[in-house]
Amino acid sequence: MNSTNQDIIRRKTSQRDLVLEAVCNGNHLSAREIFALVSDKKRMSFGTVYRNLQILEEEGEIVPIKADPELLHYDRRRDRHHHLHCTQCGKVFDIPVPYRPEFDTEAAEESGFTIDSHAITFEGLCRDCKTQGEISL
Ligand SMILES: [Zn+2]
Ligand SMILES: [Zn+2]
Repeated sequence: MNSTNQDIIRRKTSQRDLVLEAVCNGNHLSAREIFALVSDKKRMSFGTVYRNLQILEEEGEIVPIKADPELLHYDRRRDRHHHLHCTQCGKVFDIPVPYRPEFDTEAAEESGFTIDSHAITFEGLCRDCKTQGEISL
């Protein structure tokens, strides 16, 4: 009986590893994109992929980003950083603009809130979408 339990645990772990691997190799992928990558390698339902994403999030392995109002993207980077969101293709990128803790201090002083952190998303066109726009002009 024990071996059966072990097998279940091992299977669940390897599913989670695959999901984590997809998040690590991808660049801020959405749950759908992660599902597409993972289901190529192993039979998994979208629900299973989504549940594994939630577990990884609870464990602090990945961070959900709310760059796109319609869709969550998942990030392997856990340090505070900002993002660029392309309004055309929907891709999310890291932007090497430093996190400014003084914004938190200022916001706390102005609002009386206890501020934990802030997130900035820059919106616009990525390089690819910009080039495509120029070609079609
Ligand atoms: Zn784009
Ligand atoms: Zn990021």
